[in-house]
Amino acid sequence: MGDVHMLKHQCPLGFCPFMWARPCKLKDHFMADHVEIFSPEILEAIKSLRGQDFIKFLVEYVRKLNVEAKSQPMVQAPPPFQF
Ligand SMILES: [Zn+2]
Repeated sequence: MGDVHMLKHQCPLGFCPFMWARPCKLKDHFMADHVEIFSPEILEAIKSLRGQDFIKFLVEYVRKLNVEAKSQPMVQAPPPFQF
């Protein structure tokens, strides 16, 4: 059943369970569910990116977000510890 040759990948944002097989699907997903992580300038840049160009840009962007998140949690904030 289906395209067995088409590998599925998880959303680059580790906490998100979304699975994608085609870059355009990942782009749709980000525009629908994660649009808030992009600044307006980044959104403009993304609109012109397709396929592997989009994936490369996105992976790099998410990696930078995660580096920044170490000092200021934003993408993957752990739940506050409370008694
Ligand atoms: Zn996602």
